Amino acid sequence: MQQNEKIRLVVASGNKNKLREIAEIFTDFEVVSQKEMGFNEDVEETGLTFAENALIKARAACAALGCPALADDSGLCVDGLNGAPGVFSARYCGYHGSDEENRKTLLRNMQGVKNRKAHFTSAIALVYPDGQEFLAEGYTYGSILQEEEGNGGFGYDPLFFSDDLQKSFGVASAEEKNAVSHRFRALQAMLVKWREAGL
Ligand code: IMP
Repeated sequence: MQQNEKIRLVVASGNKNKLREIAEIFTDFEVVSQKEMGFNEDVEETGLTFAENALIKARAACAALGCPALADDSGLCVDGLNGAPGVFSARYCGYHGSDEENRKTLLRNMQGVKNRKAHFTSAIALVYPDGQEFLAEGYTYGSILQEEEGNGGFGYDPLFFSDDLQKSFGVASAEEKNAVSHRFRALQAMLVKWREAGL
């Protein structure tokens, strides 16, 4: 490998926003999606935890492509809703994939809820064809706003007031969010494990 050549990292996701953030954070790697590598299956996320779902996605991509694969499973947990939407964050409105409808559902369900404290979780799984598996998690804390602030980021970002930034992720720049996000913290923890394993 040439000195400046980046290590390729296949990410088991079709979510453009996640891929963008992973590439923004892991600048030393060439981040490619599983789709770009020829694997475009929607794997059913049957896990009960973020970690289980991340492993399911990474194992499927690794098995199909025969190379190491990394997956992020993430979501929002609201204290006053007993941790909901949690692993159902992407399909909180009843079907998969509408960030806007998910945010409307959250605001509706927050009516009358006093405890608006919340956190995002990101579970990162990295799976190798020889069976090695690594897991890391990251969290970021804040609270749910009464209405959307800003339109940056994705998902629940406009409704999430970050304790670290003292503003919503919807008005934060990509650099600001990436410095404190659950995904950044999980990826940092994964890097440590990766280095410890000498990979
Ligand atoms: P997954 O693809 O099953 O991991 O779904 C993740 C869902 O959690 C997304 O569709 C978003 O609704 C939410 N989510 C995860 N990370 C973020 C984030 O960084 N900002 C806002 N919403 C997020």
